[in-house]
Amino acid sequence: MRWKLKSVPVLSHHLSLSRPNFPSKFIFPENVYSIYIPLFMLFQWNWVLKFGDFTSLSISEKMAAPTPINKTEEEWKVILSPEQFRILRQKGTELKGTGEYNKFYEEGDYKCAGCGTPLYKSSTKFDSGCGWPAFFEGFPGAINRYPDPDGRRTEITCAACGGHLGHVFKGEGFKTPTDERHCVNSISVKFVPGNAPASI
Ligand SMILES: [Zn+2]
Repeated sequence: MRWKLKSVPVLSHHLSLSRPNFPSKFIFPENVYSIYIPLFMLFQWNWVLKFGDFTSLSISEKMAAPTPINKTEEEWKVILSPEQFRILRQKGTELKGTGEYNKFYEEGDYKCAGCGTPLYKSSTKFDSGCGWPAFFEGFPGAINRYPDPDGRRTEITCAACGGHLGHVFKGEGFKTPTDERHCVNSISVKFVPGNAPASI
């Protein structure tokens, strides 16, 4: 029995609690803390598995929860061109077939023209023939959806700055992984080629 107590110090100290008049130092002896070390290491490892290794994530995944950008409409007027302001801030629509990215298929990312948040990857862009750039999927968390007041369409906006992008349509039968069409104004986005840095 004696060797067992020695080999399991924590247990032995638990047993010591039942002794009458035990010295107070037995309540929290130093080696009791040794059980926390492997627990702590386990927690650390668990943390790494769940949240760690951010270096392997792409910029887009890091932007899953973009920081809100709150500017007054007066501030946006200073930053944006009149046409950008009309579309991004006043929910306008550029003329069909006129947008810079309507028939544009270079490899890279599309950022919000207002705040620079990455919104779409070029690999999700497809030719819908509708007259505006079409994407079947945005970066996770980068785009918000709101039903139009008349309930007929769903508006999409930049999750960070609230800039109006266009509308999203589902179930149109496009052979894309999501069967969704994000119909986006070219002027609402800014293309960044290939490996270029994602900042403005
Ligand atoms: Zn934005």
